[in-house]
Amino acid sequence: MKAVRIFEHGNLDVLKITEVEDPKISSNDVLVNVKACALNHLDIWTRKGLPNVKIPLPLILGCDISGIITEVGSEVKSFKIGDEVLVAPGTSCGKCYECLSGQDNLCNSYKMFGYMIDGGYAEYVKVPQENLIKKPNNISFEEGASIPLVFLTAWHMLVNRVKLKAGETILIQAAGSGVGMAGIQVAKLLGARVITTASTDEKLQKAKELGADELINYKEQDFLKEVKRITDKKGVDVVFEHIGGNTFEKSFLSLSKNGRLVTCGATEGSNANIDLRVLFYKHITLYGSFMGQKSELIELIKFFENGKFKSIVDKVLHLEDIKEAHKIIEERRQFGKVVVKP
Ligand SMILES: [Zn+2]
Repeated sequence: MKAVRIFEHGNLDVLKITEVEDPKISSNDVLVNVKACALNHLDIWTRKGLPNVKIPLPLILGCDISGIITEVGSEVKSFKIGDEVLVAPGTSCGKCYECLSGQDNLCNSYKMFGYMIDGGYAEYVKVPQENLIKKPNNISFEEGASIPLVFLTAWHMLVNRVKLKAGETILIQAAGSGVGMAGIQVAKLLGARVITTASTDEKLQKAKELGADELINYKEQDFLKEVKRITDKKGVDVVFEHIGGNTFEKSFLSLSKNGRLVTCGATEGSNANIDLRVLFYKHITLYGSFMGQKSELIELIKFFENGKFKSIVDKVLHLEDIKEAHKIIEERRQFGKVVVKP
């Protein structure tokens, strides 16, 4: 089969279109003919390499996958050849305390497609049956591939971690990113008032169409000042963070008394300064969040079936144009998801 692999970490040139053997499935797996694979910032990190993380090479990247089952292992009972599926992005052992208590995203053996195991930049991918979810009939493969990682992340952050409540005000950073776009929709479903940021008015307009109530162009306005103005100096109840660096510092200062900040990423930098006096004086709580539980993905898919959630596909490219796809993500040119098709 054709696949895009990396043999070393580096710039766009390390993405190689190669011919590889089709994956061999075990009794618990299915083989999925990939119809679409959405990109995430994770793909960029994986390509470039991360300090203190040993990524097995060569590797096929891509963790958000949709496709059709073409082969099933002998122990697979709930899925059959021809089923249209989405793939939950992380695999886990299924046996440890974390897995047995439903927190599979905290399993020590948690491995993501396209990061620690071969992913979806290929014609076929091998998937354990636990990771399969039936694709809703009312969405395309491209839309389907755009759901798992970002909606799971946003759902886990807002429902499981900060427990966002109706009537609360939330600041969602970077509406144009996949996780920002998902965060707005989850926050609106929960009944919150959403303030969001983006680098262009065009992106903000799209955020408004998704339900965002207050819009801040962070290139033209200081978002901290704007948040204070919008909330009558009070600050927001919750901040949805995934930027890190200097932005994190200002996100933290955007919080009201008893405010909560939840973060799942650090695209701008993994170090941030916070004033501890503000933390204790204002009774602020910080939450980390990593991916989400498979059960949460099953739960949130229902909101695609009833049309409450929309996946926003910005660009669909051929797998052979993978370098261009990575470039779009790196330059933050997209609103929502960039998808490649083999
Ligand atoms: Zn486990």
